[in-house]
Amino acid sequence: MTDFEGLRAVVTGGASGIGLATARLLAARGARVAVLDLKPDVDDPLTGYRCDVSDDAAVTAAVSVAASSLGGIDVLVNNAGIGAQGDVTANSDDEWHRVLDVNVLGMARMTRAALPHLRRSPAAAVVNTCSIAAWQGLPNRVLYSASKGAVMAMTLAMATDHLDDGIRINCVCPGTADTPWVGRLLDAAADPAAERAALAARQPMGRLVTADEVAHAIAYLASPLSSSTTGTAVAVDGGMYGLRPRPRP
Ligand code: NAD
Repeated sequence: MTDFEGLRAVVTGGASGIGLATARLLAARGARVAVLDLKPDVDDPLTGYRCDVSDDAAVTAAVSVAASSLGGIDVLVNNAGIGAQGDVTANSDDEWHRVLDVNVLGMARMTRAALPHLRRSPAAAVVNTCSIAAWQGLPNRVLYSASKGAVMAMTLAMATDHLDDGIRINCVCPGTADTPWVGRLLDAAADPAAERAALAARQPMGRLVTADEVAHAIAYLASPLSSSTTGTAVAVDGGMYGLRPRPRP
């Protein structure tokens, strides 16, 4: 497919996992792609820019440089995010502020900085990486779930605000995806193989989602071919949101 031919895309957190798979897919489908990341080590045809989405000055500067280099911005993928574990007692106020600063304000800052460019695009789209945690009560994920619930609500509110700007805004809700992030979590578990099996079993398909599968959904939402789709959340979760199959024998 070449549906992104001539379009310019910015992907945050695009140097790893879901973001990297998305950046590569958008480029393969014709987009020129800038990756904004804390560690922007990416290969051709992607161009990396160092940017911490929790730093407003860094976001403004990186968006400006990326837009100049690309000649504008049509697609923004707000994907950078960090995890947090534990029940409501597990994280200090500072940690709450840190995670919300990256996962929620990071997306607000990026969208705010990209808006003037998106308004000039004939095919403007924003896709936010949300999570199954916005919909389902996962154990020991209070802070992370709060951040992704905010991403879901923010996606809908922003989609409404920018209807008349012609900017479509949607989100994807991955289940547990096999990315370096989850690899790090598994490495830290007492029994990584058992933990991986438990995460896989939680998803009705019985396996983890792949980064490429999430990237495909992000590309679907970002594509100019999806020009009537705004204010939606697409689950990429092996059936975790909607299905209640009987446990496998
Ligand atoms: P990952 O750790 O493999 O990649 C995340 C990338 O974001 C990294 O390159 C990292 O450097 C970058 N990043 C982190 N903080 C940043 C900051 N402050 N500024 C700029 N870049 C920053 O993670 P992933 O699994 O690919 O996750 C990507 C997104 O998907 C996150 O928003 C995460 O919440 C969401 N998600 C992941 C899963 C999963 O199971 N992996 C499930 C649901 C949602």
